[in-house]
Amino acid sequence: MSVTIVVGAQGGDEGKGKIIDFLSGDNTIIVRYQGGDNAAHTVVVDQKAHIFHLIPSGILKPNTVALLGSGMVINPDSLLAEINELKKMGIEGRVLISEKAHIVFPFHQQLDICSDRKNGIIDTTHRGIGPAYMDKAAREGIRFEDLKYPQYVKHKLEILLPRINSMLKLYGSNLYDCNQEFERCMRWRKQLMEVIVEPVSYLHNSLCGGKNILFEGQLGLLRDIDLGTYPYVTSSSPTAAYACAASGIPISKVNKIIGVARAYPILAGNGPFPTEMSEDIAVILRGTGEKPDDEYGGTTGRKRRIGWLDLPVLKFSTQINGYTELVLCKLDRLDNFNEILVCTDYTLDGKIIDYMPDSKTLERVIPKYEKFPGWLESTRNVRNIKDLPINARKYVHFIEEKIGVPITAVGVGPDREEIAT
Ligand code: GDP
Repeated sequence: MSVTIVVGAQGGDEGKGKIIDFLSGDNTIIVRYQGGDNAAHTVVVDQKAHIFHLIPSGILKPNTVALLGSGMVINPDSLLAEINELKKMGIEGRVLISEKAHIVFPFHQQLDICSDRKNGIIDTTHRGIGPAYMDKAAREGIRFEDLKYPQYVKHKLEILLPRINSMLKLYGSNLYDCNQEFERCMRWRKQLMEVIVEPVSYLHNSLCGGKNILFEGQLGLLRDIDLGTYPYVTSSSPTAAYACAASGIPISKVNKIIGVARAYPILAGNGPFPTEMSEDIAVILRGTGEKPDDEYGGTTGRKRRIGWLDLPVLKFSTQINGYTELVLCKLDRLDNFNEILVCTDYTLDGKIIDYMPDSKTLERVIPKYEKFPGWLESTRNVRNIKDLPINARKYVHFIEEKIGVPITAVGVGPDREEIAT
């Protein structure tokens, strides 16, 4: 019986999917604890990429159970599509939904598209995540538990839709009909009712029964609504602490907190990015988009912005999440670089700073870099950290030392087998 939390240590796309898959074994319940189908967690098995937007990544391992947790906002049609894909692979009956999770409706997506276009700041994935969390905070959102009571759903829609429609009207958008949305809910009730569970007793009983719980965070620490680079953040909290808060598992039960970091961070969408590389180098790492590990968004297909490893971000993220270990992914993508840069500090107006400044100030900081000689050989077949090329080991040890957390695994390729421990 153990409780492990896996979180993105930077701005997202760190390789969490692969690590969750790696850590999932018999007897594991994997819980996605926040966000919605704006995530794209990838697990590559025998060169085939499986992308999970909602269902936790460990589901490909036999005898695991995936729980879509109470802190999530879930588009039922996206979920049904994912469940269907799994069925085609012979995976059935292992996906559960917390009754406390909120439903994302098409009108949330429409509102997301309209408001994102209007404000032009954040560049969202247009999945309706922000508007669904707005309704949750307004205490007008519709939860999966509501589907048990059709008349109650109708009543809630009658309260919610006039407000949604009044906002959509401001954007000149099409409006939504209460009866149609109610019919949609009744279809979802039929399709999903039997997998909706009361999550707190389910998780506690499972723990008592000797199961392991693996919490899967979505996005990365910099996207946290409170502590991230606001407003370029998501509408929930990808912190380790929120895994407990949203799931009803006491903090004292947590055994491990694993931060997943990339050897070179990326940023999807807008926002300050002090260590962003010049495009002539970024283009090499980004690739053409043909390979699963090329740097294009798994949900949007958008080009990712790419930067050098940023230790101030990793330190900040370690302060907040209290990692017991770190995993460093995508080391192999640096195999052919003569020289590798690591940002050790930020300077602001000529002075080193020891805090993460607000987003506007972050646009002005100047990274201080340390240069490392590359290793210029493939790491793809390395399975033991001590067998990495000497320069790669020096690079890994430098990060460990600076952050003060052991790096217990290194990703050396996209495939689930390509990991050195
Ligand atoms: P997540 O959202 O944190 O799960 O990350 P993504 O699914 O966006 O992962 C980024 C991509 O990198 C995926 O295609 C992974 O298969 C791939 N990936 C993960 N770890 C490694 C690694 O160590 N090396 C390489 N080359 N690719 C990796």
